[in-house]
Amino acid sequence: MATSSESVCPYCGVGCGIRYDADRGSAVGWNGPVNRRGELCPKGAAAWDVVEHDERLTTPLVRVNGRLVEATWDEAFDRIEREFSRVVADHGPDSLFFFSSSNCTNEENYLLQKTARALGTNNIDNCARLCHASTVAAMGDRFGAGAMTNSLSDLGEADVFLVTGANPAEQHPVIFRSYLLPALKSGTTMIHVDPRENQTTKAADIHLPVKPGFDIPLLNAMAAVIVEEGLVDEAFVAERTTGFEALRESLSALDIDAEAERAGVDPADLRAAARAYGEAGRAAIFTGMGMSQHHCGTDNVQALINLPLLTGNVGKAGTGVNPLRGQNNVQGAGDVGALPNVLPGYRPVTDDDARAAIADVWGFEPPALPGLTEVEATHRFGDEVRAAYVFGENPAVTEPNANRVREAFESLDFCVVHDVFPTETVEFADVVLPGSVWAEKSGTVTNTDRQVIRMNRNVAPPGDARADLDILREFAARVAGLDAPATPEGVFDELRRVTPIYAGMSYDGIGAGSQRWPFPEGATEGTAILHADAFESGSKTAPFRAVEHVDPADPVADGELVLVTGRVLQHFNSGALTRRSGVLMRMRGEDSLQIHPDDAAARGIEDGATVRVENDRGEIAVAAEVTPAVRRGTVFATFHYAEPLVNRLTGDALDPTAKIPEYKHSAVRVTVE
Ligand code: SF4
Repeated sequence: MATSSESVCPYCGVGCGIRYDADRGSAVGWNGPVNRRGELCPKGAAAWDVVEHDERLTTPLVRVNGRLVEATWDEAFDRIEREFSRVVADHGPDSLFFFSSSNCTNEENYLLQKTARALGTNNIDNCARLCHASTVAAMGDRFGAGAMTNSLSDLGEADVFLVTGANPAEQHPVIFRSYLLPALKSGTTMIHVDPRENQTTKAADIHLPVKPGFDIPLLNAMAAVIVEEGLVDEAFVAERTTGFEALRESLSALDIDAEAERAGVDPADLRAAARAYGEAGRAAIFTGMGMSQHHCGTDNVQALINLPLLTGNVGKAGTGVNPLRGQNNVQGAGDVGALPNVLPGYRPVTDDDARAAIADVWGFEPPALPGLTEVEATHRFGDEVRAAYVFGENPAVTEPNANRVREAFESLDFCVVHDVFPTETVEFADVVLPGSVWAEKSGTVTNTDRQVIRMNRNVAPPGDARADLDILREFAARVAGLDAPATPEGVFDELRRVTPIYAGMSYDGIGAGSQRWPFPEGATEGTAILHADAFESGSKTAPFRAVEHVDPADPVADGELVLVTGRVLQHFNSGALTRRSGVLMRMRGEDSLQIHPDDAAARGIEDGATVRVENDRGEIAVAAEVTPAVRRGTVFATFHYAEPLVNRLTGDALDPTAKIPEYKHSAVRVTVE
């Protein structure tokens, strides 16, 4: 039975229930809507470490003569009010940029995007831009919604799991342990598409070690096998799709084995995988950043979506396309409008009716011109963009081409960082506002399978730190004259009035459980499986799209290797929280560069040796981990550590549709130090 101290894990998008246990002096799981038996992974179990950490920011800071010094809240907000007014007066509202936070609550994200729009700009984004923006773009185009099509609880009915570019055994451990593993034990076949062998691969029946950047040839070849071998669900294709003949024509021109080899996989394995997926009674796809973080990320997911449409694996239990979301509220931050092109509920800012409907509630109309995305914005820092508000993100570590990003932040006239620790981005702040961690605030977050879950405050923030919503409420009042509701419940009630997919929910109704979107006004419950009779687009049919391969943006010269970045079980994103956990640092205290034994031998690199990894964007030094788990020609490192800062090496070529950068393919030279 949940009590009012129940909260949600601050890390991944699974949304495990967590609370402070005073007797144990640590975090424990409660029987939440997702972790039904209170199970947690190591990160969740160590989440209390950040609450009482002695590096917490406990008082506002302002920069004086180049140094950050302690200040009162009034002094900090006076400075912010003065500088924001000056920048807007001199350069206009589009000279502001807001980094919203996908690990903060729906209410906080909602209020920050409303403040940006009250100031007259749509320049607000969150780190969904860096993880699944391309997935959302492709799924939105085909289905009308970019979220998981299914619910975790029905996916166990699948006969086949196709896991592409995701590693749920290490990145979404409770989903893997509680939802996938029981199905695997009962006979579900798992196909894992990933250039690297990891814990998910170990549980798979078929591994396709795709060459980074060559997902489209692989997926097109799988689709071609399905067509060639008569595995198409003709009735579904006739009733629920359009454009099949054009797709068939384009697939028929392919040499399947040649495409498999272009993708770097054994043609026989590819055919076996396609057959398994195509013959399954029910097949579910899980997709992750291995697919999305490419300059062709939207096209990757477009190619992937052809598979369920060919085989009728949409709109029923155990099927669908299911992006595994990164941070605990990356789904919700987008749902409530912390994006530059859409308003709450994913209604385009260019939609006159949507802006008018919102104006009825807000009392002002949001601007109609789409704003800048995160990476686009940092390219314009110091030029078009003169001031930034960074809320709960650490772009100095997480943005690609980090050396350029540092210079970009240095070029700003004014920068506010609102966070809980002195992150690497705090180095560039003129004002620092000390906020709250998961146990110190209340509100809602939306997990990866669209469940809105409440967080409840366990303890007060330390020192003069304040609950994030209180800070954002004062910020909204000071810079935009907004009078926001005084409680999370009040803000939730307002946001659901302008977010049609949340319209029928209530804070009380969520209670100690969850409510799932879409939950329209008047509904008694949310929709567990999307697209059963019609797509969220409103159409009964979804189009096929023929997609062609494009080469990665970073060409690989002779002697160079392809760097792929990713995550490990013990740490999360920029590591701002997990690097401050003693137990997690004991489990994995530093980064390493995984390199194949043949590539290591060719360079005289021994296991554990320090190697230099470099390209035209920067260089790092890191210990080599010689392992056959990575493909020949590929190296792997995480982005969790400020040193070595691997994003010094990643490029900022963007997907033209989703503006997501290509983290998963950077050409590097690797030598012994
Ligand atoms: Fe937290 Fe995700 Fe681990 Fe659950 S699986 S405890 S939400 S990090």
